[in-house]
Amino acid sequence: MSDRTSRAIVCGAGIAGISAAYHLAVRHDMRDVLLVDERAPLSVTSDKSTECYRNWWPGPGDAMVRFMNRSIDIMEELARESDNCFHLGRKGYLFVTADPARIPDFERAAEEPCALGAGPLRIHTGEPGDPIYTPAPATGFENLPTGADLILDPLLIREHFPFLSTDVIAALHTRRCGRLSAQQMGMYMLERAREAGLQFLEARVEGVEVRAGRVRGVHLRDASGSRTVGTEVFVNAAGPFVKEVARMVGVDLPVYCELHTKIAYNDRLSTIPQSAPLYYWADGQRLPWSEEERALLAESEEMQWLLAPFPPGPHGLPEGTPGSQNQLCLWTYDVETVEPVLPLPPHDPHYFEVVLRGLSRMIPGLQAYFDRLPQPVVDGGYYTKTGENRPLIGPLPVEGAYIIGALSGFGIMAGCAAGELLSAHVTGSGVPSYAPWFLLERYEDPDYRALLDDWDESGQL
Ligand SMILES: Cc1cc2nc3c(=O)[nH]c(=O)nc-3n(C[C@H](O)[C@H](O)[C@H](O)COP(=O)(O)OP(=O)(O)OC[C@H]3O[C@@H](n4cnc5c(N)ncnc54)[C@H](O)[C@@H]3O)c2cc1C
Repeated sequence: MSDRTSRAIVCGAGIAGISAAYHLAVRHDMRDVLLVDERAPLSVTSDKSTECYRNWWPGPGDAMVRFMNRSIDIMEELARESDNCFHLGRKGYLFVTADPARIPDFERAAEEPCALGAGPLRIHTGEPGDPIYTPAPATGFENLPTGADLILDPLLIREHFPFLSTDVIAALHTRRCGRLSAQQMGMYMLERAREAGLQFLEARVEGVEVRAGRVRGVHLRDASGSRTVGTEVFVNAAGPFVKEVARMVGVDLPVYCELHTKIAYNDRLSTIPQSAPLYYWADGQRLPWSEEERALLAESEEMQWLLAPFPPGPHGLPEGTPGSQNQLCLWTYDVETVEPVLPLPPHDPHYFEVVLRGLSRMIPGLQAYFDRLPQPVVDGGYYTKTGENRPLIGPLPVEGAYIIGALSGFGIMAGCAAGELLSAHVTGSGVPSYAPWFLLERYEDPDYRALLDDWDESGQL
């Protein structure tokens, strides 16, 4: 028996659920929307990210580039109207290599997203007639270049990024990319939605009542007990638990989770300027160890893996709070599929040292920490993914049930456009042309299945 009703109930107050609720309550003026989370808003995955954004996405198709461009448009609107309360900046991402054999990969990686709508490509070779390279300012996002600068002139690289190893020979600086405070953006949207009438309830969604093939209500449990709230619209925004929550309407989602960990540390020796963009080492490597360390590691079966070749990808960025020397860093060299559990399982105690040594290949100044590592603060969360790493946004095969999830490692940057798209589905207003790419029903389309067989992300660095 329902003791109240709501026009729509959103399960999950991470960035996805908040953005969905914001768009329903504020931009569609929907009354009586209820946002439910068994925990504090934004406290599971959405406050654990590195808080970066980029319009830099590969194909197939231009759906991801257009989706992210739209999301960044909305983030910029919110930043302008809020006096940039969430510190949206646009320093870009910088992919670098010291391997001449990788230059063709860089050229391909530069061309594809630009051709898909990320903006123009400027190539800097050091020859007369080169385009102008505009450095990114430490703060702000207005009036800056889009697209990318592919810098093949080592002198220009050293002039603008003197902290990098002197053997770096190519750098790809992608420009409609940067960082924000995700927690503050999420809270800003939540506050605006509350002002527009959104209600937040701290409770666990325990079940969804489905009768005659459509949603009729949601079973909730909180400190005061259980109740059912009648509704005809249920939005599953449960982050790493979307699969579990989708089962409540009898739907099995094709998603899985990976645990990703990030590290914050105080760069007390200021090896990396706070004005640096996100920096990403695109070459494989073996970690640097002294002869003595190498011999010791070789003797230990448990530690020998530290001598093996490592894949490309250690990356980091300044944390960005004014006056801070904090750096964040990550490297996904060993992710595997896991069941999501909270609290998170303990992290690998070697992780920070591995990432720091890996990054020292790109930033030699970090070698100064080998003898005395800074104290790391380690946290992280789950990437919830589909096989092709594209989100799920739209109706589920039960009338009135919707999904906004599988936001993987891009939910902060995609959050605004994802909420907008979800709200367009719920209200029946016009959806953008990228919408079909993110529907659950895409997997029933034989053309999409054929595309999946040939899915090629080799153009990514
Ligand atoms: C280490 C790391 C780095 C990342 N870096 C970036 C980045 O730089 N840029 C970027 O864009 N993205 C990044 N991401 C990804 C981004 O953080 C996620 O995609 C995003 O936070 C997912 O948001 P969400 O709302 O789907 O999930 P969550 O934030 O996890 O929210 C889900 C909510 O659902 C609630 N919930 C679940 N089940 C129930 C239930 N039965 N009843 C009630 N409530 C329920 C949970 O309590 C939770 O609050 C990163 C992620 C990690 C882990």
